[in-house]
Amino acid sequence: MNLLPFGKLAPHRPRAFVPQDIDLGDWPQIAPLCAQLESRAAQAKDPAALEHWLLDWSELNAALDEEASRRYIAMTCHTDNAEAEKAYLHFVEHVEPQLKPRQFALEKIYVAHPQFNHLPKARYQVFNRDVKNHVALFRPENVALETEDAKLCQQYQKLIGAQAVKFRGEEKTLVQMGRYLEEPDRALRQEAWELVAKRRLVDADQCEEIFDQLIQLRTQIAKNAGFENYRDFAFRQKCRFDYTPKNCLQFHDAVETEIMPAVREIQNDRRRQLKLEKLRPWDLAVDPQNRAPLKPFAEVGEMVTRTQKIFNRLDAELAAGFRQMQDLKLLDLDNRKGKAPGGYQQNLSEARVPFIFMNAIGVQRDVETILHEAGHAFHAQAARDEDLYAYRGAPIEFCEVASMSMELLGNEFLEEFYPPVEANRARKTHLEGIIGFFPWMATVDAFQHWIYTHADHTRAERKAAYLQLMDRFGGDVDYSGFEEVRAHSWHRQLHIFLHPFYYVEYGIAQLGALQVWANSRWNKAKALNDYKKALALGGSRPLPELFSAAGCKFKFDAATIRPLIQLAGNELRKL
Ligand SMILES: [Zn+2]
Repeated sequence: MNLLPFGKLAPHRPRAFVPQDIDLGDWPQIAPLCAQLESRAAQAKDPAALEHWLLDWSELNAALDEEASRRYIAMTCHTDNAEAEKAYLHFVEHVEPQLKPRQFALEKIYVAHPQFNHLPKARYQVFNRDVKNHVALFRPENVALETEDAKLCQQYQKLIGAQAVKFRGEEKTLVQMGRYLEEPDRALRQEAWELVAKRRLVDADQCEEIFDQLIQLRTQIAKNAGFENYRDFAFRQKCRFDYTPKNCLQFHDAVETEIMPAVREIQNDRRRQLKLEKLRPWDLAVDPQNRAPLKPFAEVGEMVTRTQKIFNRLDAELAAGFRQMQDLKLLDLDNRKGKAPGGYQQNLSEARVPFIFMNAIGVQRDVETILHEAGHAFHAQAARDEDLYAYRGAPIEFCEVASMSMELLGNEFLEEFYPPVEANRARKTHLEGIIGFFPWMATVDAFQHWIYTHADHTRAERKAAYLQLMDRFGGDVDYSGFEEVRAHSWHRQLHIFLHPFYYVEYGIAQLGALQVWANSRWNKAKALNDYKKALALGGSRPLPELFSAAGCKFKFDAATIRPLIQLAGNELRKL
C-alpha cells in the first residue's frame, strides 16, 4: 500500500554513487557506502577529485534525507497506520544513530584533507566554514552532558504536556482553552484565562528547578568547549558568523525605541474599540469589534484554487511552481482523522521537490499558512539545480525570509478569498501580528542573553531580570492581581527550555520580509526578481549576501527598522 500522497518521483540527477536497488532503511546496506567514502578520500589527489568525492557524499546525504522524509510524511499523513509508524521509528532508532558518528568521521576526514584549502575559495567558503566549525566544537566529554540536557528537556515536555484543566465540567488541554480567549463574553474569557494561568503556576517551581539544572549543564558544555559562557558557545554552534551578541542587543534596543510605540498604539486602539478602561491579559485575542471569525473557504480544493490565483497574479514562475506541486500531488492540506496536527514543508532531497503538509479547517490562519509554506516550497524549487546537498538549504534566518515575504506579498491579493472589507480585516490582523511579535521575540532573546552571561544568578535575580524585560516589552496590559503569573510567563515558551537562543532568527527574517514587501511597493517586478534570485542561491552564500541579493540590508538596528514600521503603521491606518 502506498501511504504517500504522491507517486514515483525520479531523482533530479541520476544516481552515480548510491546503488539503484539499495534499501535505505537498512543500515547494513548503508554502512559500506560510508566506508567507501572514508577510504576513497585519500585517493583524491587534486581539488577536482575532492569535489567529485563531495558530490558522492552529497548524493548519499540526499538519498538518506529523502528516505527519512518519505517515512516522516507517510507517518504524519497516517498516524493510525501501524506500518507507517514502525517504518519511521525504524529509521529513527536503527539508521540515524548509526549514521551520526559516521557522518562526523567523514567531516573530520574532509577538514583534514590535504586538498581542503585548495578548493575554489568563494564556492566553498560557507560549506568549509560550517563543517570546520562543527568538527572544532566537538568534545567527547560533552556527549553525556547533551544526553542529560535532552532528558531534562523531555521532563519539561512531560510536565507541560500533562497540564489540563476542568472547565465547565469538561477536561481540556491548555491549547484547547486558547479558543475561549476569542469569545466576545469578557467574563468567560477571564474565567478561562485565570484557570489556565493558575494551572501553570502549579508547575512553576518544577519548571524553575529543571531550568536551573539546564543552565548548569549548558554552562559546563560551553566551558568544556573552551568558551567563557554558553551564549558565546551557542552563537558559534549555530554557525552565527555573520552577526554577534552585540548586534542582537542592539536589535532589542531598536525594538524598544522603534516598535514599542506602534505596539502601544495598536493596544490602545484595541482598548478603545473594546470600550475598556484598561486592557487585561484576557482581552488580547478577541476580535476588538466582536465580529464572527473570517471564513475564507469551505473546502480545501477551493483554498488551493484561490491560492493558485494569487500566485498567478503575483508572478508567472512562482505560479508554475505551485501548479506543479498540484500536478505531482505534493500537497496534503485537509484536516482529517488520522493525520498529525500542525503544518510543515519538507523537501524530497533526491527528487529535489518540496512537499507541503497542513491541517486546513477554513480559517484565515490557513491562508497565512499556505502562503508561508508555499514560500518555503518556492525556495526549494529555486535552489533545485544546486548539486551540493548542503547548499540546497539556507540558514533559518533566510529560509523564513522566503516564507514570511510570501505571506506579505500574497496578502495583496486576498480579494481572491474575501470581499474587500474582509480582505482588509485579514491584512490588519496579519500586520498587527507581525508588529506584536517583535517585543516577545526581544523578551525571549534578551532574557537568554542575560541568563547565560550571569550563570550564577539566583532565582530571585532571574525573576527580577525577566520583570525588567516585561516592563520594557510588555506594553500596556494590566496584570494587577496576577503578578506571579506575569513573572513566570516565560515558562510556556518552550524554545527557552528546548532550543536555547533559537528565536531571534524569526525577528531577523521578519525584517528581511518587511524589506522585500517595502521594495515591492516601489517596484514589484524588481522586488520579485531579487527575491527569486536570492532564493536560487540556496545556502551557498553568507547571510549578508543572501539578504543583499533579495534587495535587503542585513541589519537589525533602529535605522533599518524605523522606515519599515512606518510603512506598516501607515498601511494599518488605511485598513
Ligand atoms: Zn517557516
